[in-house]
Amino acid sequence: MEVLHSDPRFLKLAGQMAVDIGVRYSLFAGLAWLLGYALFRQRWFHRKIIRAFPATEDVRRELVWSVSSVVIFALVGALTILAGHHGWTQMYWKLSDHGSLWFVGSIAAAIVVHDALFYWSHRWMHRPRWFRLVHRLHHESDNPTPWAAYAFSPFEAVVQALVFPVVALLIPIHPFAFGLFMVWQITFNVLGHTGYEFHPRWLMDSRWGRYLNTPTNHVLHHERIRGNYGLYFNIWDRWMGTNHPEYENRFREVTRRLPEGAVSHES
Ligand SMILES: [Zn+2]
Ligand SMILES: [Zn+2]
Repeated sequence: MEVLHSDPRFLKLAGQMAVDIGVRYSLFAGLAWLLGYALFRQRWFHRKIIRAFPATEDVRRELVWSVSSVVIFALVGALTILAGHHGWTQMYWKLSDHGSLWFVGSIAAAIVVHDALFYWSHRWMHRPRWFRLVHRLHHESDNPTPWAAYAFSPFEAVVQALVFPVVALLIPIHPFAFGLFMVWQITFNVLGHTGYEFHPRWLMDSRWGRYLNTPTNHVLHHERIRGNYGLYFNIWDRWMGTNHPEYENRFREVTRRLPEGAVSHES
């Protein structure tokens, strides 16, 4: 790792990125935890996809591995920024280079690229040969909490961090646009692991249900360890026929439940 020694900015940059990524993760996952596991734990329970809360030990494991992932993301992120400064990626620093329309377009492009990268790397990690080494730790959360969002083995953290160089190599992107893309990423990731289905019941039987992914999709993936490999959209899973056969009915079952004490008006 010659670059680590030859470039004095590396450690400073990696430190700043660790703080950025760590604070953003703590805020988003912490807020989800506060709402779903403390304040509204009972009020929202009818929307809890798995009707139980995990043991403290499980949450502790998720937290420990999340810290390790934040460090690895920061190292890969800092290497990507340095590569950008050397002109080896398509990152740009002057907003006027590509205009405001592309600034927004680059965020959309990063989302589409990440969705494909996640789906295919996730399927690869489920191949028996790689699962134990790379991905099993994430699946120890069979009833995930918001803190499972970054609970990866160090090997998987490297795989997940590939989004930094892949996006920077493929897409002309400003660091601030990348930051906004990361806000989108952490929002979806935390919502997918918090364990509550917040979408309306009609979603699954509308066209949106064919395109958008839901927390039910990913929680079912944690529960059954097969099918539902997608991230933001349900497009790859539908295209490749990898949705879990119970997915749509599970969504309907969860969203049909009534809050405790409510009376059904259905005939
Ligand atoms: Zn998986
Ligand atoms: Zn997961």
